[in-house]
This record gives sequence, structure tokens and C-alpha cells, in this order.
Amino acid sequence: MNGKWDLSFLYQSFEDEAFLADLAKLPEVIRAQQAILDDASLTHLARLEKLADSTEELNALADRIGSFIFLTIAVDATNTTADMYGDKFSLIMNDASLVNSNIIRYVGSVDNLDELIASSAKLQPIAFALKEMVESCKHTIAPELEPWMLQMQLSGGSAFSQLRDKLDSTHTVDYRGQSLPLPAVRGMAYDADASVRKDAYEAEIASYKKMELPMSYCLNSIKMEARTLAKARNYDSVLDMTLDSSRLDRATLDAMLTAMKEYLPHFRRYLKAKAKLLGHKNGLPFYDLFAPVGNASRTYTIEECREKLMAELGKFNPDMAVFVDNAFQQKWIDIYPREGKTGGAFCSGVHYADRSLVMTNFQGSFSDVSTVAHELGHAWHNRCLAGLPYAMIDTPMPLAETASIFNETILAHEVLKTATAEEQLTLLDATLIESTQTIVDILSRYLFETEVIDTRADHAMTVDELKDAMLRAQDATYGDGLDPEIRHPYMWACKSHYYSSGLNFYNFPYAFGELFGKGVFAQYLQKGTAFVPAYNQLLRSCGSAPVADVAASVGIDVRNPDFWRSSLDIIKDEIDKFCALCGEV
Ligand SMILES: [Zn+2]
Repeated sequence: MNGKWDLSFLYQSFEDEAFLADLAKLPEVIRAQQAILDDASLTHLARLEKLADSTEELNALADRIGSFIFLTIAVDATNTTADMYGDKFSLIMNDASLVNSNIIRYVGSVDNLDELIASSAKLQPIAFALKEMVESCKHTIAPELEPWMLQMQLSGGSAFSQLRDKLDSTHTVDYRGQSLPLPAVRGMAYDADASVRKDAYEAEIASYKKMELPMSYCLNSIKMEARTLAKARNYDSVLDMTLDSSRLDRATLDAMLTAMKEYLPHFRRYLKAKAKLLGHKNGLPFYDLFAPVGNASRTYTIEECREKLMAELGKFNPDMAVFVDNAFQQKWIDIYPREGKTGGAFCSGVHYADRSLVMTNFQGSFSDVSTVAHELGHAWHNRCLAGLPYAMIDTPMPLAETASIFNETILAHEVLKTATAEEQLTLLDATLIESTQTIVDILSRYLFETEVIDTRADHAMTVDELKDAMLRAQDATYGDGLDPEIRHPYMWACKSHYYSSGLNFYNFPYAFGELFGKGVFAQYLQKGTAFVPAYNQLLRSCGSAPVADVAASVGIDVRNPDFWRSSLDIIKDEIDKFCALCGEV
């Protein structure tokens, strides 16, 4: 088994006649959409129904072509033919998004939309998407301004975002006499050797001096553009704009943040116990946040991983075991690292074909097994969405991690049951490292970004102001869990999430995903396998309603802090176990 995925259900190659024919057809379908909008002979009902059909056709075509191109690139960075088709495809899809804005404005202008939807069997299944267009129409930029603003963004926020990537990818760190790329040095935070971790941290911090000034301009400019865009799109604030695109309301965000803040003392307890374990007296130094503890290092072959996942996920739902088996059998997974293949892992659904493709860089650690479980959770989510129109499968970011976190949580829960004490310590720490990032660090990022956006109304923050704001955000969240002398004033320069032009507060959805996935798992613990149908239905409805309504479908009230507390209690239990194993109570 070479462990490569099979994309032949899409096309045989870039020379495949079906590929070339589909690519030629794509601009025609986009033109046909605009023609439907322009056809004055059509009634509103006829036009809406024709648009529904053509949008479905366009999405399926773009899904097939785009998947083939980008999945090919993901495992073969040197494939210049794929790159060339990727550029062509992106240009064509730009036209598609301009036509899409026209569709949104048109739908927003139809007075009797509700009546038309009620009268049409074709429109009823996409009612939520149509009504959402009416809402987003209120936040579209005036049509005479939109093309200019889009172009100005190319030389504004997008350009600063690109500059940020260039600064980051060409940045080098002087580590023990060697000049190394930043990710290599940051990766040393996981090293088993304490002196490597410390030296790497000190070298990393020292290296930011040479990029801090241009990086601060990138951040200030991108957040200024966000303020301008929020105003132009008729939002009261950047946060409101973000919540709207996440289908979240303020009450939900506030309930989650309230609970997160309440549980900070428990995370500090974990950090202090880990500090003591590693021989520190004054809280954990930043460079030891990711330090491995314990010496349990059992490894898995990919066959063992397959069996483990079938066994553990199958306990929840036997269909899931069959699903995992199929994914391996039909070569959905590109398993091992190899030259030219991207790092990390992801899952990408091909909706019309009811298939998912999973990329991993499996090397046999438990964390790799957990990654496969995570990505197959996304794949299961895609399976639950099968058969729905494309307009109804758009899962907002806060809900996108539900099934993946759920799978990870089941796996960890089952594996812990039979682990030795030494293994438990290692497993718990690995889980808590992640939870500390998604709760404590994410909260620090949320506080920091809020301050930058607010301050930007008045002036661009200097490097010193940014460093100070970051340290205060870390103080407010990590508190005495971290050594006050050894924090990270440059986290704003190292995390790319602050620099996506058009995407703000790219932090709280992670906390939401983690806690919601765990909260759903808590429901399963309460209700047992009787919860399975409700779980699958929850996943199926993720693109069909605001987040609070999707959650309410399984009896979860995300506006109530108690729900978030119950999820955080699952992490608190792990912290209690970890501290007990360390001899701390
Ligand atoms: Zn994920």
C-alpha cells in the first residue's frame, strides 16, 4: 500500500478531455447566470427557480474542477501544470463572485419572497439560504462603489497580508550559530531536551527585532481596513460584522466568554502543576508550554490506527466503523509525508460525489491517530450533509469543528480508560496542551485583537504598544500559571490569524468549536447511543440555520453560560486527573 489517495473519480489527469471540457464550460455557466438575471421576460418566480438550478450546476462543476486542482497541488507542490490551472480557475471564480453579489442584490429586491418560496417546491429546500441573502443584502457595499473597494483592498489589506506572509516565510532565526526558518525553531518547543526549548525560545524572541516594524504596519493597516469595511457595510463594529458572518449572536459569544473566564483558575492550576513537574518554581515559562511530559511513547502502524478508530468510533455508532473502513478501502486518505507534500492535515469534501479526501502526515504517534480521527470526523460531517443542495451545506466556522472534536474526544476518552498511569500523564498533557491553546491562548488573542481594533480608531499602535498589549492580554488569561518574566510579547507577529484581510477575530471560533464539540460529547455520555440520530441530524442542519438554532435542535442553549460550563467541566476533570497524577491537588 503506497498510502496515496485516489482522485481518479474526479478526472484521470489534466489532459483528460472531461477536465478540459468542464473547465471550458465553467465561464459559460457563469455567463448564463448573469443572463438569467438580465432576462426581463422572466417572472420573479421563474428567475429564482432558474437561478437555483444554475447555482447548483455552477457549484457542482466548480467543486469537481477545484477539488482536482487543489488536491493535486496539496500533495505535489512541484506540479506546475496544476499551479497554472489553479490560477486560471481562480480568475474564472472571481467573475462568479461578482455575479453572486448581483444575485444577492436581486434576491434582496424581491418584495414577496416569502410568498414565492411557499409556492415553489424548488425554492422551499433553499429557503434559509434565500432569506439569508435578504439579510446580507443590507450589508452589501453600494454597487457603484463595490468594484473600486475590491480593487483598493488588493493594494490595501490584501497587499499587507501578502507582505506579512513574505516577511514570515523569509524570516530566519539565529539558533546556536545556525540560521533557521521560524517554523523549525518554533517546532523545538516540543523537543524533549529542556535546553533546546529554552535556547529556541530566546533565539526566536531576539529574531523579531528585524521584522517588528513592517509587521506592525501590516497589523495596523489590516485592522484599519476592517474598521472602514464594517462602516461601509453598515455594521456598528468589526465584531458585529464577524458575528454576522459566523451566524452567531452577541448573547452566545458573551455566554461562552463568561464561562471561559470563570475556568481560567483551573488552567492555571494545570500550568503550575506542569511547571513543578519540570522543575520550575515561579509558574511555567512560555518556552515549556508545549514541553512533553512522561515517557510513554507507544506508536501505531496505519493498520493499527484503522482498527483502533473502527473499534472506538464504532462503539458510538457502528455505521461509523463501516464508514472508516470504507474510507481506507476506497483510498480517501493520503497518509504518509513525502517530498512536495504540504505539512499538517485537512479534510476536503467533494459534495456532489458524496466523498471526502483526507490528507495527513502520519508517522505513528498517538497524536497522529487522533488527527486521523479528527479529519474523519469532518468526513462524517460531509456524509451527513450528502444530498442537500449546495446552498444549504455552508457550515459556519464555529460549527465546522463539531464532528472532528467529537471524534477526538471519544478516542481520548476510550484510550484513557485502559492506559497505564505513565501513559495517562502523557495523554492528558497532550490533550491539555491543546485545550490550553484553544481556551486560554485564544482568549488572550481575543482581548488583544479587541484592543488593537479599538485603539486603531485613534492611532496606529507602535511596536512597544503592541508588545505591551500582548503581555497584558497574557497576564489577564494565563495569570500566575505562566512565569511573569518569561512570556511572549511577539505573539502578534508570529500568528498569521491576525492578518487575514477580510477575516477578523479569527480566534473565538476555535474556542467555540472545541467547547461545542465537547458539549455535544457530554450529551452522548448522558443519553448513550440513543443520541446518535440527533447527532447526525445536528450535523446535517449545520448549514441550514443560525448557530443557536442548530444547537437548540439537540437541546443545547448556547446563550446560557451553563452549557459552556458543562463543556469546561470535561476539561476540568482532565486537569484534576493530571494534577492528581503529579501529586498536586
Ligand atoms: Zn478540523
